[in-house]
Amino acid sequence: MSNKVLAINSGSSSLKFKLFEMPAETVLSNGQIQRIGFDDAIVEFVLNGKASKTIEPIADHGQAIKKLLEMLLNSGIIKSKDDIKGVGHRVSHGGSAYDQSVVVNDQVKQKIDELSVLSPLHNPVNLKGIVEFEKALPHAVQVAVFDTSFHKTMPEEAYMYALPYDYYEKDGIRRFGFHGPSHEYVSEKAKELFGEEVSHKVITCHLGNGSSLCAIKDGKSIDTSMGFTPLAGLVMGSRTGDIDPEIIPFIEETRGLDSEGVRQLLNKQSGLLGISGVSNDLREVQKAADSGNHRAQLAVKMFVHQIQHYIGAYTADLDGLDTLIFTAGIGEHSSSIRQLVCEKLGYLGVSIDDTKNQNNEVSIESQDSRVKVAVIPTDEEIVIARDVVKTAGL
Ligand code: ADP
Repeated sequence: MSNKVLAINSGSSSLKFKLFEMPAETVLSNGQIQRIGFDDAIVEFVLNGKASKTIEPIADHGQAIKKLLEMLLNSGIIKSKDDIKGVGHRVSHGGSAYDQSVVVNDQVKQKIDELSVLSPLHNPVNLKGIVEFEKALPHAVQVAVFDTSFHKTMPEEAYMYALPYDYYEKDGIRRFGFHGPSHEYVSEKAKELFGEEVSHKVITCHLGNGSSLCAIKDGKSIDTSMGFTPLAGLVMGSRTGDIDPEIIPFIEETRGLDSEGVRQLLNKQSGLLGISGVSNDLREVQKAADSGNHRAQLAVKMFVHQIQHYIGAYTADLDGLDTLIFTAGIGEHSSSIRQLVCEKLGYLGVSIDDTKNQNNEVSIESQDSRVKVAVIPTDEEIVIARDVVKTAGL
């Protein structure tokens, strides 16, 4: 049976969507509303293959959803709201409670709310999206798809922190990992494109505003760079990534910051932005670096250096490397970052073809490379839509 399924990613002031005909996986419409809460919200849609962009007031997520449904109805893509049978919501943190996607009920909503302490930037707005869609589409099944689920296969030694064991048992402190749907999608896609034989030992580099690497053995995550929260691992747009934990009480004492102040500092004022003083956007940082700004050059070097560290470590975990995959905003578009990263990986047998790299081709390794190097656009939405079908039995 054929069903229309929405995949939703709600941010604090944005709503991104893709409408699929499932199980054919045909994209019927996609788009996003940004600057929700402002008089000049940006409403972008692709309807029947035609792109449109308008600027108009959108007061809140409820109104954004109303707008989305109106556009789908007016374009004839849906005849009635009831045509949409399922809505999949990307939810940042599933904690230890959820190692797979789940149909939303009151208990699930309560748990997502409780887990907001672990993902304060994302879980509350993800929940808001769910609640608003329940109101707007009461007949559709709502499914929560967690960023953390894909990493459920990590072994104990990869997910434990060396705190007293009690903190794991009582407080649930452990590595969870994020960007699951993206790591899953690109590794599966690579297998489809290049075959099983180069898909046993894979490293996926999701490099965007938030960035994480994942070591994937035979399709299963065995380690990943984000941790208990999405703050860990690589230096990111405005997040520190890993730092010596002793820095935190030191800053609290020397700068007189409370825990909220520290959280803001580590999440919003650090990373590429904090080092360069220019921007959290890599394109801006690279522009400044190219014009000789030392701090911008340093930010780029730190980013590349840390990616290389993780690739080395994960190759050891995997006992080799078949395929290295780049994805997300930076991974898909920045040939210079890919080139800088791969420059030092000759010892692993990685070698890339400059022309293919500059053209963002799917396979960018040179003929003599012992490792496949791929650029695969991520598609978290299709993973969400597939999970809706599977979880809700549509
Ligand atoms: P998010 O984590 O917010 O989903 P994205 O995956 O969209 O982020 O990635 C955003 C990042 O991608 C930004 O740092 C941006 O500068 C970078 N980016 C996007 N396009 C390009 C490009 N053509 N060249 C270099 N970097 C790019």
